[in-house]
Amino acid sequence: MIARIRVRSGRRAEFVEITERVNNALHDLGAREGICQVYVPHTTAGVVVNENADPDVARDMLAALDRLVPEDGDYLHAEGNSPGHIKSALVGQSVTIPVEDGRLALGTWQGVFLAEFDGPRERTVVITVVGA
Ligand code: ZN
Repeated sequence: MIARIRVRSGRRAEFVEITERVNNALHDLGAREGICQVYVPHTTAGVVVNENADPDVARDMLAALDRLVPEDGDYLHAEGNSPGHIKSALVGQSVTIPVEDGRLALGTWQGVFLAEFDGPRERTVVITVVGA
């Protein structure tokens, strides 16, 4: 089973929470139990599972990535978005999450985020479920 959702980011770098949109897609697919892959087919975005209770966590993660991969570093790529490419590679393009009772089996403090590193723009998220 596969579904696609469109997600709009509003800033150059941002974590956009998509947990409920993925759960809604699972509902629409009729998925009850199995494994869900959340994937972004992009080279300057990623997917992250992390805390969704305190928004400062997402801010701190973005700030830490900025320190690792500065905007004004020594890059050759003419498009000017090498930091986005590198951050995307660091966080990865997909996560895999169990599906239980028709929903993502996330921990209490966990959410799923589209990690935008070259926004604002509209992104595609591909949701694939293996199971029943
Ligand atoms: Zn580029």
